Parts: sequence; structure tokens; C-alpha cells
Amino acid sequence: MSHINPDFADDITKFGAKDFNLCFNCGNCTAVCSLSTNDATFPREMIRYSTLGLEDEIKSSLKPWLCYYCGECSSDCPRQANPGELMMSLRRWLTATYDWTGLSGLLYKHMSVYIGGMIALLAAVVGFIYYSGLSKEVVMHYGHLFEMFAIAGVFAVILLPNIIRMWYFTVIKPKVKAPIKVYFKALSELFVHMFTQKRFLGCEDTKENRTRWLLHFILVLSYLSLLFTTVFLDWFSTSSTFVIWLGYVESAAIFIITTVFMSMRVRKTDAMHKHSQPSDWFFVIWLFLMGITSFAVRLLIDLNLINTLFWVFTIHFTVLVQWALIIVPFGKWTHFLYRSFAMYFERIIGLNNQLKK
Ligand code: SF4
Ligand code: SF4
Repeated sequence: MSHINPDFADDITKFGAKDFNLCFNCGNCTAVCSLSTNDATFPREMIRYSTLGLEDEIKSSLKPWLCYYCGECSSDCPRQANPGELMMSLRRWLTATYDWTGLSGLLYKHMSVYIGGMIALLAAVVGFIYYSGLSKEVVMHYGHLFEMFAIAGVFAVILLPNIIRMWYFTVIKPKVKAPIKVYFKALSELFVHMFTQKRFLGCEDTKENRTRWLLHFILVLSYLSLLFTTVFLDWFSTSSTFVIWLGYVESAAIFIITTVFMSMRVRKTDAMHKHSQPSDWFFVIWLFLMGITSFAVRLLIDLNLINTLFWVFTIHFTVLVQWALIIVPFGKWTHFLYRSFAMYFERIIGLNNQLKK
């Protein structure tokens, strides 16, 4: 029997949902959604579950991740019930539900906790740099080590257990008994979606949607390759001209594209950017800061000014620590990961159903 949470509707509003109670269940939103199929119908079903407080059904569903927030459903809703925004809010809620630490939910619901965490990390970095008595070269070396250990640590301690929890809620608990060969067969889906987000191209074929997909694609590639360039090719210490220019291009792409995204959020140009939550702002601003400060640090190294203007590295290091310890494990960055795994699990479920026929 389904468990009903009478407070679910209130709870989900803390994650950004608005006006979904206005829905009178006409089904227009599902009819216009290009990504909704007979096997996976949404968003109306998710609105119904949310209104009724069917929390377990939502927790075990991958459907919120199948939506790419094109906004078609919200524009066509006769009741202005904002189904697109509800799907986005459910993704935030799911992120908090998968997170075993509980910190994700706290950060989403209380901006003061978010800001407090950011300030605490700022104080820790500034304190470390100014009171450690270490030379600037050694501090930069520690910055590089931090990047490597933070990535490995955050993945092993936070993200991997959360992905396992997501798998448990969406595949194991609903009793999908897929043989191991199905897991291997579906694996390509994970990487294709992680790098290309190609499902978004299934949204209505408009110029805006194509541009948004392209910008997003370049941003993901630039971010992942800058990570590789700084961590494995040691961008700040290398003397390889190719690697130096590669890093410049990647970091420039990040701050240029995030500037475009920030301006879209300010101007509220499309449905996706109309209802920005603090977590959306933190994500895009910190990604912008990551791009621009890493570009500036490398430029100062090349101009032989890094010792004189070392405070620029301090800013970069602070942004990096805040990004790696708050936004990546608990903030909007996780959507990138969970969405890719949702596509993978969805494919496993689909292949398993075909096997049973
Ligand atoms: S959200 Fe709007 S379009 Fe969708 S079922 Fe409800 S009233 Fe209809
Ligand atoms: S925002 Fe777009 S993809 Fe998401 S449910 Fe609405 S129509 Fe479908």
C-alpha cells in the first residue's frame, strides 16, 4: 500500500515548486511534452503524485530526470500550474533524498546554511594561506593536491554512496531484477548522456533549444577537460605551450558561456530561467568564478606577476574549495551526475522489460 505524506506538497514548495495545486488534471502538459512517451508519461503523473503526497512513488521514479525543462508544458498549461517548475523542484527534492548525509536538503531549504558553509570555507582557506607560513609555491602545490584529493574523496564518500542509494530506490526496491549482462549492455547510455545530454535534442526543435543544447554541450566539455588539464596535466606548473593554451581556451569557454547563462537568468528569457533558486545562482556564479579565476591565475604566472598579485590565487583557491566541497557534492552539480545515471537505469529497466516479453 502506498504511503501518503500529507506534508509533501508543503515540503516540495521549499524546493521551489509553485502553484502546482492549481492543476485540474487536464493532461495538456503531457500531450505537449516531446519527451513524454507511452512508457514514461509525465509531467501530469508527477503533479498528481505530488498533490496526493505519494512520496514513495516519486522517490522510486526516474521521470523527473527525463525532463529537460524546455518549458513547453508550463506555457501550454491552462491553469498556470507551472508543471516544468514542479519537475525541476522534484529533481532538487530527489537530490536531497539520495544524499545520505542530509546536507543537500539543508542547503536547498536554508540559504543561511549555504552562505554559512561558504563563509566557513573562505575563512579556512584564508587562514591556511596567511597563517601557515608556507611559501607561495608550496601553497600552490597544496592547491593542486587539494584538487586531486577532493575529487577522489567527494566521489568515494558522498557521490558514490548516493548513486547506490538512487539505484536502490529506483531499480532494486521496485524489484527490477536485471541480469548483469543488461547492466553492461546499457552502459554506453551513461557515457553518451553524460557527455552529450543528447536527450535534450528530443525537445521541440527550435532555434533557442538548439542554441541552449550547444552551449550546454560546450560548457560540459570545457569543464571536464579543464578538470583534466588542471589535475592531470598540472596546468599551473606546466611549460608545455599546448597545455597552456588548452587551459586558456577551456577556462575562457567556461566564463563566457556562464556569463550568457547568468544573463538569461537575469532577463528570464525562457521558462527554465524564470524561477531561479539560490542553488541555481550559486552553481552558475561559482562555475563562472572557477573559469575566470583559473584563467587569471595562469595569465599572472605567464606575466610573472603571480607573486605580486598572489591574492588572485587566494580567490581562486577559495572558489575551488567551495565548489569542490559544497556545490559538487550537495548542490546543482549533482543533477549532471544523477541525470546521466537516470538515463542508464531507465535503459536497464527498458532492456529488462524487453527480455521478459
Ligand atoms: S499542469 Fe496544467 S496542463 Fe498539466 S494537467 Fe494540470 S492543468 Fe493540465
Ligand atoms: S519542461 Fe519540457 S521536457 Fe519537461 S515536462 Fe515540460 S514539456 Fe516535458
